[in-house]
Amino acid sequence: MSSNDGIQIPSRLPLLLTDEGVLLPGSTMRISVDTPRNMQLVKSRLLKGTSLKSTIIGVIPNTKDPEHDNQELPSLHSIGTAGLAVQVVGSNWPKPHYTLLITGLCRFRVAQMLKERPFVVAEVEQLDKLEQYTEGQELDGELGELAQRFYQDAVQLVGMLDMSVPVVAKLRRLLDSLPRETLPDVLASMIRTSNKEKLQVLDAVDLEERFKRALPLLTRQIEGLKLLQKTRKPRPDDDKRVLVVRKGGVFPGHQFSLDEEGEDEDGDDMAVLDKKVKEAGMPEHALRVCLKELKRLKKMPQSMPEYALTRSYVELMVELPWNKSTTDCLDIRAARVLLDNDHYAMEKLKKRVLEYLAVRQLKSALKGPILCFVGPPGVGKTSVGRSIARTLGREFHRIALGGVCDQSDIRGHRRTYVGSMPGRIINGLKTVGVNNPVFLLDEVDKLGKSLQGDPAAALLEVLDPEQNHSFTDHYLNVSFDLSQVLFIATANTTATIPPALLDRMEVLQVPGYTQEEKVEIAHRHLIPHQLEQHGLTPQQLQIPHHTTLDIITKYTREAGVRSLERKIGAICRAVAVKVAEGHKSPKVEQPSVDESLRESEMAAPPEMPIVIDPMALKDILGPPLFEMEVSERLTLPGVAIGLAWTPLGGEIMFVEASRMEGEGQLTLTGQLGDVMKESAHLAISWLRSNAKKYQLTNLTGGPDPLEGTDIHLHFPAGAVTKDGPSAGVTIVTCLASLFSGRLVRSDVAMTGEITLRGLVLPVGGIKDKVLAAHRAGLRRVILPKRNEKDLEEIPAPVRAELDFVAASSLSDVLNAAFDGGFPITTNPLPHPHVTSKL
Ligand code: ADP
Repeated sequence: MSSNDGIQIPSRLPLLLTDEGVLLPGSTMRISVDTPRNMQLVKSRLLKGTSLKSTIIGVIPNTKDPEHDNQELPSLHSIGTAGLAVQVVGSNWPKPHYTLLITGLCRFRVAQMLKERPFVVAEVEQLDKLEQYTEGQELDGELGELAQRFYQDAVQLVGMLDMSVPVVAKLRRLLDSLPRETLPDVLASMIRTSNKEKLQVLDAVDLEERFKRALPLLTRQIEGLKLLQKTRKPRPDDDKRVLVVRKGGVFPGHQFSLDEEGEDEDGDDMAVLDKKVKEAGMPEHALRVCLKELKRLKKMPQSMPEYALTRSYVELMVELPWNKSTTDCLDIRAARVLLDNDHYAMEKLKKRVLEYLAVRQLKSALKGPILCFVGPPGVGKTSVGRSIARTLGREFHRIALGGVCDQSDIRGHRRTYVGSMPGRIINGLKTVGVNNPVFLLDEVDKLGKSLQGDPAAALLEVLDPEQNHSFTDHYLNVSFDLSQVLFIATANTTATIPPALLDRMEVLQVPGYTQEEKVEIAHRHLIPHQLEQHGLTPQQLQIPHHTTLDIITKYTREAGVRSLERKIGAICRAVAVKVAEGHKSPKVEQPSVDESLRESEMAAPPEMPIVIDPMALKDILGPPLFEMEVSERLTLPGVAIGLAWTPLGGEIMFVEASRMEGEGQLTLTGQLGDVMKESAHLAISWLRSNAKKYQLTNLTGGPDPLEGTDIHLHFPAGAVTKDGPSAGVTIVTCLASLFSGRLVRSDVAMTGEITLRGLVLPVGGIKDKVLAAHRAGLRRVILPKRNEKDLEEIPAPVRAELDFVAASSLSDVLNAAFDGGFPITTNPLPHPHVTSKL
């Protein structure tokens, strides 16, 4: 912060209405808050979770009846003091309330009320300019004289107090260092004055006026003290006098009424801070800045609003791990074991991670690309990141970037802005306490953009090995070396990662899991983990493999394992209750021997595991969520199943069509994008032009499917916007079924883009789509011929269970989608049902 910067308060301030006194700039006051409006303000503006957010609020003396707060807003005093809450303490006794410690910053005038509920917010105009307190230029003219007199009186007042009391000594020193124009406020809040008098000082916006109003108060205090001293015989023990001074309300409610040791503590405190600064191991440039700030801090009175700010700055500087680091203990063999132990499957990813670590081991300063794990939620991206940190013996810190749209989130706010904070990178470093942690930048694909600058640009600087050795956080304002930090990023899709950022990263795809893999993951990792979390043992709860498979197929439909883990958690909770109740499995047969034996058994029931069978599963998790058989939906002509790719993994997608009398119009519903609409038109045109060949007819049996007919195509799951060309073949199949009156095979799903000439073009996301088809229990997948190569990526067990049809033209697709080909060419095969009847 440059030394001339004044403090700028926001133009919209939440207002705290208090009848507990008048807060003046430069003083600190405790305010107890218990009215609904004020409580709401504290909760939503000052507290976030349990930590204190430093925010400026306006404090308005409430001269009216506070009872009104519930209903109507009393007419407000128009001038208030903006203050910084330095401490918030909440309590429920005797009734819910907060106690705030607030330091006044400057006056403001309420310009316009913006809202009254849940708390008051107003547009305000800042009245005092907060200049630096040091080297305050002399006030001249009449004002100068007034100020001088005020100063002298203040010195006289202090002189009448006992200088051996540390707070008094401190006040004496303060008088010299405070700029004259702040004296009326500071003294008026310290000496004994009524709220009404303080209010008058507050209302005196003009400085001269303020001096004039505060001066008589000061004189009165001096006279009062004189009188007191005259009537009291000086006693040999001065302790009593101290007591009078302290209890006599010379400094009511002000922090100068610290303990007598306050001064010493303060001095010690500074010495400690000083020592810490010197021992923090800062590089030269940072040390210089920090020492300068420390020097300013020492000269500053604690009541200055800047004190708290400067102090937290210096403390942050001290806490940062300038030269603290952990030593990497990388043993590739051990790393392999650890990765394997932590994660089942994901072979390709683990292999690449090991390569990456091996190269790092050989060449310690790796300026390689940043690894970015891309895949659906719950497939273990974060957890691999955590394992990497463990294999390296480094600290791990996750930075969630989802929704971050302000670059100061990454790079901090400048300190000129009160309530400013360092960005997440510096905060993360402070949290982990070493300068070479593993930082996981979670959800880089969900970075936002706003007027406050592009966070992606700030991230670029963080990730660029050429620049990040001197990363400058705006709050810190000195550079910090990030080159030792190992960054790893995660995302659901690469499509929304800003290109420049994507360019810096090596993308590793983490696809979803097959059902078999999920069962293994559940038994090796999720179940043991959940048992431990719920304080259960395998002797108490057993989940057989077939039950796990039931959970996977009937209660979840996801690419990752997150909701699987939640369901297992739900089972554990249910069982934990039973165990805690001393549940005995009904399967335990009570031996019908004598009573005494039975009693002893009751006292210590045999440890029998509770086995989760399908019945128990239904009892705990409720009826299955995904049981509707796919075939049930395919009982009418005009329905086909497509495969879609989403950032959350592959999904099956139904396409439905119906026709009715009309004028050849096409209606499309279900939140479609433009590309999808075009596919629908393409499909219709192609079918019309091939109507004869495929024996397609309209409602009346005529040769043009559209004649006298309206068509409605619907893509269910209407809330999800769908787009992309890969639904082309599905639309054609669905319409072919409608126009021919034949059913599509119920076990087939398809994907592929089409052309007007009836060719099938390749599409993306094959692996995820095939896994989705497999999850849904389908057996045949029709895909473009040119996508055949992608099948290699699919795990062998899945491949073995599916029948793949590679189509290069739409007639291949239709032939594979209908029993007996399309149209039925060879001697029409007897329909399966017919055979069985014969
Ligand atoms: P993501 O970051 O991809 O959204 P997480 O890393 O948070 O997913 O994983 C969710 C949960 O699933 C974690 O408890 C993780 O341990 C577990 N998990 C995911 N994949 C695996 C795996 N292959 N082996 C073991 N556990 C896994």
